[in-house]
Amino acid sequence: MKTLKLFTIFLFFITSFAFGQEKIPLLSGIVKVSVQNGTIECDLQLTELVLPKDYLIRLNKGLNILNMEVKNPDPFLVGFDRDLTDSVQSHETVSYFIPSDVKGEKFYPNNIRFRYVGKFPVINDTLWTTMQREDWRGNIAFVKGNLRVDGIQSAWYPTVYDPINDLQYDQLKYDITIDCEDCETIYLNGAEPVRGSLINFKSDIARELLLFIGKYNIQESETTYMLNSDFTQKELEEVDKINDRIFDFMIRYTNIEYQEKLVWIDGGVTAKGYGFAFFSYPAITVVGDPPYDLRSSFQSVSDRSIHTIAHEISHYYFGNLKRSNSYLESLINEGFAQFLASKYVSQNEDANFIKDEMIQAIEWFEDPDFKFKAMLDFNQSEHTNDRETYAYDYQTAILFTIEREIGEEKMQQWIRLLLQGEEPISNKDFFKSTLKKAINNDDKYNDVVDKYLIGELTVENMKKIWIE
Ligand SMILES: [Zn+2]
Repeated sequence: MKTLKLFTIFLFFITSFAFGQEKIPLLSGIVKVSVQNGTIECDLQLTELVLPKDYLIRLNKGLNILNMEVKNPDPFLVGFDRDLTDSVQSHETVSYFIPSDVKGEKFYPNNIRFRYVGKFPVINDTLWTTMQREDWRGNIAFVKGNLRVDGIQSAWYPTVYDPINDLQYDQLKYDITIDCEDCETIYLNGAEPVRGSLINFKSDIARELLLFIGKYNIQESETTYMLNSDFTQKELEEVDKINDRIFDFMIRYTNIEYQEKLVWIDGGVTAKGYGFAFFSYPAITVVGDPPYDLRSSFQSVSDRSIHTIAHEISHYYFGNLKRSNSYLESLINEGFAQFLASKYVSQNEDANFIKDEMIQAIEWFEDPDFKFKAMLDFNQSEHTNDRETYAYDYQTAILFTIEREIGEEKMQQWIRLLLQGEEPISNKDFFKSTLKKAINNDDKYNDVVDKYLIGELTVENMKKIWIE
């Protein structure tokens, strides 16, 4: 499992929670971009806005705000302040709020218009010296004639954050015009990718507004769109087969159908030696030079690339149907996505495949430098010093150990229960009650919780199962 880390690195947030309120705000207005100059100019408004009891508005720190305006009913400009204490924000963003007339209190308008501009590095060259030092999900990446930017982590548009419940509302309805003179192709997440340079997009479904625009080609197959890649017809058929096989497995396992066409994006990379992927339903963005680019990932028949594809598709369930809100949940979703991906890959492996992975992983957990808390004791990011190992390896190992204890059938039942209902899986009562129901034996349930989900001895207890 460790080998997968390079490919899945820097997935700080995977997806987010749609508005807990009944009303999903609408983001509308105009976004002007030049992919040659690396500029973004926005005139966007949030309407149908019901701000949470406390709130911050996160926006990328490379964006300079001209003003914020509220209509009530006539438009007027409002002052805004920064909140420097917003500690769980990703490092790309700055947090703002609008103070009210009463000192120390905030203003809660139901609409805000934002005008802001930004200019970002443009990387058109693959020479080492003109690359960025690193690339990551939240990067506003102007790369090789395209702009690739996610929603939640980059916050290129205003995203409301609820600090009381640790929820970031990056999934919005939209009515947005993208105006990019030097573009030929535009994709705004959730809409169909189209050719053109001035296009209006609308969505009544809340989406993370990932944007991929520039000069790239669009390919379409039965199961997917492929953006910025050049698959042959035969390869596209193979891609469909891979997607189908993985979805067949996931649908059988979860008993939940998959609805939409995927959109695979070759997002280009701004740094040497990087490879990672991230999910923002229905888009999956693959970032990297060969062998980490999109085409190589599908062409390679290695377990590693199939595992990565299966992992990203698993986020349809853990990450989309069950959306992450907090840091904690984005972490837990990784464990379950990794578990499902390993289940998928292990079908074609010999009987010891999982066991060998576990024995390897236990060695990493025994490294005295690896600090962590058991899954039910984990409630703040400081509880591990290595998010990658914790999310992708430790949690996954715990899940496979639980499966070994309770059997595949009950494990599958637990996962199905976790995917039901509205509760986030990071809700510990929900996590426990579904496990208890699936095991359906109080002694066994208590035993599993004591050994693997709380306390200091989880690794020793795993070791007893897999090694001794
Ligand atoms: Zn993931």
